[in-house]
Amino acid sequence: MHESLSKLHSIVGDDGFVTDPSVASTLLNDERGLYSGRAAAIVKPHSTKELADAVRVCFEAGIAMVPQGGNTGYCGGATPDESGSQVLFNLSRMDRVIGIDEQGFTMTAQAGVILAAAQQAAAEHQLLFPLSMGSEGSCQLGGNVSTNAGGLAVLRYGTARELVSGLEVVLPDGRIWSDLKGLRKDNTGYDLKQLFMGAEGSLGIISTVVFRLYPMPRVRIAAWLAIDNIGEAVAVLALLRNQLGDCITSFEFISREALGLVLRSMPRTQNPIDTVHGHYALVELAAFDDGGALNSDFEQALLEAMANTGLSDAVIAQSEQQRLAFWQLREMIPSAEKQMGGSIKHDVSVPISQLCSYSESVVAAMERKFPACRHSIYGHVGDGNIHFNVLAPELMQADAYRRENADAISDLIHGMAMACNGSFSAEHGIGMLKRSELAKFGDPVGLELMRQIKATLDPKGLMNPGKVL
Ligand SMILES: Cc1cc2nc3c(=O)[nH]c(=O)nc-3n(C[C@H](O)[C@H](O)[C@H](O)COP(=O)(O)OP(=O)(O)OC[C@H]3O[C@@H](n4cnc5c(N)ncnc54)[C@H](O)[C@@H]3O)c2cc1C
Repeated sequence: MHESLSKLHSIVGDDGFVTDPSVASTLLNDERGLYSGRAAAIVKPHSTKELADAVRVCFEAGIAMVPQGGNTGYCGGATPDESGSQVLFNLSRMDRVIGIDEQGFTMTAQAGVILAAAQQAAAEHQLLFPLSMGSEGSCQLGGNVSTNAGGLAVLRYGTARELVSGLEVVLPDGRIWSDLKGLRKDNTGYDLKQLFMGAEGSLGIISTVVFRLYPMPRVRIAAWLAIDNIGEAVAVLALLRNQLGDCITSFEFISREALGLVLRSMPRTQNPIDTVHGHYALVELAAFDDGGALNSDFEQALLEAMANTGLSDAVIAQSEQQRLAFWQLREMIPSAEKQMGGSIKHDVSVPISQLCSYSESVVAAMERKFPACRHSIYGHVGDGNIHFNVLAPELMQADAYRRENADAISDLIHGMAMACNGSFSAEHGIGMLKRSELAKFGDPVGLELMRQIKATLDPKGLMNPGKVL
């Protein structure tokens, strides 16, 4: 081991070999404080070549490797185990946007570029990189692709997978597989890049990505809506889509309880609608002209929704500042939950038509079995994806409640989603956290195929062991 660590040190140099214990400790603990690991070494390669050379050293010495991006993942996928024998590969020094093709609408970037920096780089060319989420100031492109992240604009632009048109990956034995042509059309056999997206670092380390870009909207129009329940949110969205078409980019549900957590714990926040309503939704539209025509179509469509669905009130943002304030309310929910002692998080999806009955059945079952616990329900209604988070009852110690009840609560919420043809992990992945769910709910043939793919690409089982499968 000692000899291999010296080789790694000489490959990445002093700047790429972490020895500072305070830096190490942030990298060895996961975002939610659920997992804490140790590492034989933490390396930060600077280029694909350094990465590949370092991976080859580990492969030859039989050392397990853990890829890490911004370490914002919710399932413990980027944390090494407690043995102290694994090498953590942190990609943060591979942070270069390599190029933007304005005519081809693509961006080529190293995997360690922070998502917000990639958005900014595209914006400097008047282009839109639409992937967007609350963690965008810290998460990295490689992590986004490895988790097939979703976020706030999936309704219009799709998940990370749908934005990728080229990939370069360092395989577990150190070979580099590269397909960075970024072609829209290329039917030459199996589409190998698909394997690495959503694989959570279990099949190789993504080093470079080619993303699709889109025209930059000139105006964004957002409205805060008051609605009775999730079913009405779904009905309002369907009406708006039929009236306004593809210009709707986001549609987020925010339960009264989730908003309440934000208003209670975050200073200078207020509900844009000052009368009390069942629940809320945030809708956003993109216009490619001055937005005037779309604004009046939007107002018309909202009036129609008020007449024909459970939409009871709506406020259209009157300034960019107000639009951002609406989004802040939505994006502050995870931090508000954290401030209240944290939550038992769920990231389920069901067919959109079943979202309402699913949510109502879960709330009823939870009230029977776990009375007094608090719910924070919010999420990407347009994608059928709801974060059904559960907080300890008022005045009860959050950690103790979680330790005692988390498994039973998650069984209930996941089991009911699976019974509706849904998923127990819509956008956060499996990591360490949901391995037992995958083993329990996964299709046996599908699981066998996954194991065979893993064994083919990673015969020594060295790439992110203990994650996913
Ligand atoms: C406030 C907040 C809001 C969030 N909102 C959303 C949301 O709306 N939608 C959503 O989908 N997620 C969301 N997340 C979760 C998280 O930000 C995403 O999963 C993100 O894509 C993880 O990126 P990362 O760079 O932090 O990856 P990490 O946490 O570092 O790693 C995640 C997984 O990817 C692997 N990995 C990382 N980099 C690479 C690489 N280069 N090659 C191979 N494998 C790699 C790791 O091994 C691990 O298994 C949120 C998180 C927070 C804290």
